Amino acid sequence: MAESVPVTSPLLPPLEEFIPYLQQIWDSKRLTNGGPFHEQLEQELADYLGVKHISLFSNGTLALVTALQALRITGEVITTPYSFVATAHSLLWNNLKPVFVDIDPLTNNLDPKRVEEAITSATTAILPVHCYGIPCDVEGIQRVADTYGLKVIYDAAHAFGVRDNGASVLNHGDLSILSFHATKVFNTFEGGAIICPDAKIKQRIDYLKNFGFADEVTVMAPGINGKMNEVQAAFGLLQLRHIDDALVRRRAVFERYRQALEGVPGVRLLEPPAGLEWNYAYCPILIDAERFGCSRDALYQRYRDQDILVRRYFYPLINEFPMYRGLPSADLSGLPHAWQVSRQVLCLPIHPQLSTEIQQQIIDLALACHAEQTRSSSTALEL
Ligand SMILES: *Cc1c(COP(=O)(O)O)cnc(C)c1O
Repeated sequence: MAESVPVTSPLLPPLEEFIPYLQQIWDSKRLTNGGPFHEQLEQELADYLGVKHISLFSNGTLALVTALQALRITGEVITTPYSFVATAHSLLWNNLKPVFVDIDPLTNNLDPKRVEEAITSATTAILPVHCYGIPCDVEGIQRVADTYGLKVIYDAAHAFGVRDNGASVLNHGDLSILSFHATKVFNTFEGGAIICPDAKIKQRIDYLKNFGFADEVTVMAPGINGKMNEVQAAFGLLQLRHIDDALVRRRAVFERYRQALEGVPGVRLLEPPAGLEWNYAYCPILIDAERFGCSRDALYQRYRDQDILVRRYFYPLINEFPMYRGLPSADLSGLPHAWQVSRQVLCLPIHPQLSTEIQQQIIDLALACHAEQTRSSSTALEL
């Protein structure tokens, strides 16, 4: 293959469509601090996603950090080890203690039963992730939260546009956060947002993302600079014109993988539950080395050798990183499902522009790896 194949490629509309937006910014000289494109994007995204209020951010991590601050979370927060490291980092940035709890192997998301077992007198909140855009057991988590008086903040960085039986998954819990990073389904180069159900909390969040300024002379809290600028917001408005087409293309790529790899021994594909309008953000497969005949890491290396840049999302687990390793809940013996998935998972390239030819090469390599191993083990039997 001449060029390397990345695991994802950003959604980028034709450049000429963006020029008129830039012209408007140059004319108005409004660059940031809640300019007209920022206000328009908040409105259009709330309508598109089917949510009440949205507060835009310069990235998803600052949205997470601010969401925890806005709800005045203290003490211990129960979260998943199977995520991108920013999930847990947002807790450390708020001086909160992460408590890692195992996932349900069917959804790869926090298991409410394990959450309940991990609650102590210091627990104040749950920070689950809708991993790969597959919803958590939101009812199970809410039941636990209501029983123990806990807040729920969803890291919904993967869940842009996901609807469960017609309703946005972003409406669960107290707050949800989104990421609009270049690698995500919907991007503003960098960007993020907090989804919130009530106008008063949105007000507080809007203060906190602007240093805590409530007005010209009043600073109500040590807020951060998390504001989205006008170029990002204008780009988001343009992206919204293209997102539905991008989702259709992603779905077609995912379905081709499914048809080709379903039924291959030792390969498990992600199964979006019935009634879910998914966003096809990732195409993770789980490799059972024994049945597939080749380990996850051997297959990973085979792809890398061909310059096909598959990724092991998420490996290692967050609790394996040095700043988390020492926590009591970081012990791998308490996280068997997360451990197993992190050792089996491989995310295949998926994005709206992936050609069928390249996708076929990706599929063929997996099938070849399986066939070779099966052949060599049957030869060994004959000998
Ligand atoms: C991408 C991502 C983030 C961080 O978002 P940024 O916009 O890159 O700061 C947080 N959590 C999860 C699960 C993510 O995938």
